[in-house]
This record gives sequence, C-alpha cells and structure tokens, in this order.
Amino acid sequence: MTRYTTIPEIDRVYALQQRSKALFKQTTANERIAKLKALSAVIDEYDFAIKEAIYKDFRKSHTETEVTEIMAIQMAIKETITKLPKWMRDKPVKRVWKLFNVKPYLHYEPKGNTLIITPWNYPFNLPMAHLISSVAAGNTAIVKLTEHTPHINQVLRKIIGAVFPETQVFVVEGEVAETSHLLGLRFDHIHFTGSPAVGKIVMKAASEHLADITLELGGKSPAIIDKNVNLQQVVRNLIWGKFVNAGQTCIAPDYALVDVALKDDIERVFQEELKHAFGEDPQQSADFARIINAAHFERLTDALRQAQVSGARLIAGGRSDAAENYIEPTVLTDVAASDSLMQDEIFGPIFPLVYYHDIGDALQLIEEKEKPLALYIFSKSDGFIDYVLAHTTAGGTCINDTLIHLMHPGLPFGGVNNSGIGQSLGKFGFKAFSHERAVADVTIQPMSKLFWFPYGEKTQKILR
Ligand code: NAD
Repeated sequence: MTRYTTIPEIDRVYALQQRSKALFKQTTANERIAKLKALSAVIDEYDFAIKEAIYKDFRKSHTETEVTEIMAIQMAIKETITKLPKWMRDKPVKRVWKLFNVKPYLHYEPKGNTLIITPWNYPFNLPMAHLISSVAAGNTAIVKLTEHTPHINQVLRKIIGAVFPETQVFVVEGEVAETSHLLGLRFDHIHFTGSPAVGKIVMKAASEHLADITLELGGKSPAIIDKNVNLQQVVRNLIWGKFVNAGQTCIAPDYALVDVALKDDIERVFQEELKHAFGEDPQQSADFARIINAAHFERLTDALRQAQVSGARLIAGGRSDAAENYIEPTVLTDVAASDSLMQDEIFGPIFPLVYYHDIGDALQLIEEKEKPLALYIFSKSDGFIDYVLAHTTAGGTCINDTLIHLMHPGLPFGGVNNSGIGQSLGKFGFKAFSHERAVADVTIQPMSKLFWFPYGEKTQKILR
C-alpha cells in the first residue's frame, strides 16, 4: 500500500519553499544547468528501475518506455542545458521614435513557488518535463504525482531526492484530499495536466489567489483522412499514434473521419496492419500495454459494449481480458453520434472510423465538439490541408503523421480552451514558469523633462 504524503508534511515543506524561493531566484544559468546535468545522470543510473516500475504499473514495454518516457526527457534536458543561457538573457525590444529616450527590454524572472500536478498516463515523462521547465526558470516546485502508478512514483521520489533538496523540489503522493489541500495554498504558478473536469477545479482554486496557471488538458482529437493518400502509410501512422501506450495518450487520435471512397480499402488495410504490428493475438505481444486499472477497463469495455448494442460494426479487435486489464486494439465503425465513444475522450485502444461524403460535414462534426488538443490531417493535396487548417482549430496539428508535433523542440505544446490554456515544453515551458518582466530603461532624459507642468508650447510641439 502506497503511503500518501501527510498534510503536516505538505505544510512543512510548503513553508520551507516559501522561504527558499528568494535563494533559487538568484541562481545563475550555470547553477541551474549543473542541477539538470545531475538529473540526467541520475536518470541514467535508474534507467532499468524506471522501465521495470512502469512495466509493473501497466505492462508498458521497456522499449516504449525508453522512447516515450526516458528519451523524451533526456532530449528535453539536453535542449534546456544548451539553450538556457539564451532563454534567460534579457531580450531587447525595438525602440520607438516618440519614446527615443527609452531602451525597452524583457527580463525573465522566476515566478517563485510552483505546483505541478500530473496524471498517470506518462507517469515519468509528464512530472519530469514540467519539473525541468520549472527549475530551469529558477523556481521551487511541489510535484503532485498521480495515485495510480505507485511503482514509478517510488522511483521518481528517489531520483528527485537524489538531485534536489526539499527546499527546492518536493514530491507529493496522494489523491483528491492531498491535491485539494495543495490547491488551497498560495502558489505563484500552478501547472496542471489532466482532465478538463479537474482542470476546472484547478482554475477555480487558482483564482482564489490569482495564481498563474497552465492547464494541459485532453479531449477528442480527430484525424481527417482525405481520399488522396498513401493508405498503408496513413494506417500505420494511425496505428502507432492510437495504440502506443494502449491509446492512453492525451494527443492520441481519438476517432478518424475518413473519405467514404476509402471505405473498403481502409478496413482491409487496418486488419492487415494490425496483424503486422501485434500478431494474431495482440495479448501475446510484448509491445502492447495494458489499461491502467480496473475502473478504466470497465469504462472502456462498457463503452464498447454499448456502441455495439446501438449498431456499431467491428472492423478489428474487440476482445478483452479483465484479469489483465487487457483490451485488444479495436477499430470499429457505425458508432452512433450519441454513444459515449463519440461523445467523451476515449483514452484507450478503441478507434471509431466515421465515413464522410463531404468534407464540410466532417468539419461540422468537429466544430460541434469542444476544441481539440490535437488534429491530424492526412492528404497529398495542399489545397485539402489548407482548407482543413482554415476551417478548424486545435492546440496543435500534425500533417501526414501523428504525435510528433509534441516532440519538436521548436513548437509549443498546449491546448485551446477546453483542451488547455497556456503552452509548455522547451522555451515555451521556460516562459510559462517565468515572469516576462517589462523594463523601460530611460537612457537620456526622463519623460518629466519633456512633459512637465504647466503643459505649454514645448509639450504641444512634441505631440505634433
Ligand atoms: P485527472 O484529471 O483525473 O487527474 C489528474 C491529477 O488531478 C491527478 O494527480 C489526480 O490525483 C488529481 N485529481 C483528480 N481528481 C481531482 C479532484 N477532484 N480534485 C483535485 N485533484 C484531483 O486525469 P487522469 O485521469 O490522471 O489523466 C487523464 C487525462 O489527462 C485525460 O483527459 C488526458 O487527455 C489528460 N492528459 C493531458 C495531457 C496534456 O499534456 N494535455 C497529458 C496527459 C494526459
């Protein structure tokens, strides 16, 4: 049984971090880089322990953990180490003629005490990614881990404890009670990753102290498939994006809108490519993860059953095994628009295909839902791609592939309204955890020399 962090422990460390924030605010780029290098080395040391822990939590393969959890974080650390001195540097702003005596620039300062709340689906990557941004920006951080991944939580606690004193970074384990207690405290910035429903709770709590927030949420991310595509490649890209982590990825394609001209071919190609990917019996595949817990297993299998009762037709998959929280990679069609599979974020290995005759109808279906976190476009036609971009919105978009927009260090990651507020990762994460302070350095003469009482002819001349 996991021991949750007690409320007195939280209060004790919170008070320590309140006092120590001034100290970390003064740290130089080199001091922060030294901590990130140490973090990278300790992650290397714990490489096997991380993979084993995540395997125990939801049978994710070592290779998938390597790619989606560890490699992503080591890349983020490397990028931050290389770019941090540049990110921290004051940024000059263009001078303007009317204010010729003002040298304007932006100065980056840490926000102070930060709270990072994370979900279970990438239980190493997500706490680490946002922690890197927070400490790079010079903050203290309390990192609230999810309650659903006890094994990796223990490893995270050790890694973080080996690098950071608790006055700088502290790990909290717990559920609603512990998170609610944290949300009652005053933080300078709260970074939340999780569901839109809990995001609303976080935003309300943050408003009590007018804390800055970043909300990384979820929702239904569509993939739109034009008839003008390399079908085998598209299906492979969709299979990877959808079934990595058993579909428990915030930016996984949730459902696909497919040109009806592809109907017969795409169903056949899905059947063939799923066999190539996971074999005749995906339960035996070493590369296919399990559903995180029995509650989510029940939610998904109920939704699948309900869709079939209302007339959905299976294209591939459909089997499950409660003893292992296993759900086969499943593709289906003819799902009723009112079914939960088409209403709620699926967050599991079930993929509805919806055929469209007219792209306008497909885009209308997206428009009727909340703004998605990701939107995928597959087409060889620039005209089609431009049309879809112009008539939709999404936190991010990937054209002719899935997920990789998240990995590019030059692109911000985030949602829009219901799928999120603010941006994370790389320099955008650094900025989210920094206050961008506006500085006007008056170099020649103060404004009061130009505009001085009583306003007379001299002032009028300047205004002309
Ligand atoms: P969740 O919202 O249930 O939980 C997230 C965190 O909030 C956990 O630490 C949990 O302990 C805490 N929490 C849960 N209920 C709470 C409450 N009532 N009050 C206060 N705290 C509470 O999310 P989840 O089920 O862990 O993760 C799945 C969701 O996260 C999906 O919607 C997914 O799309 C989203 N997600 C988004 C991103 C992103 O970067 N945008 C990444 C991963 C997951």
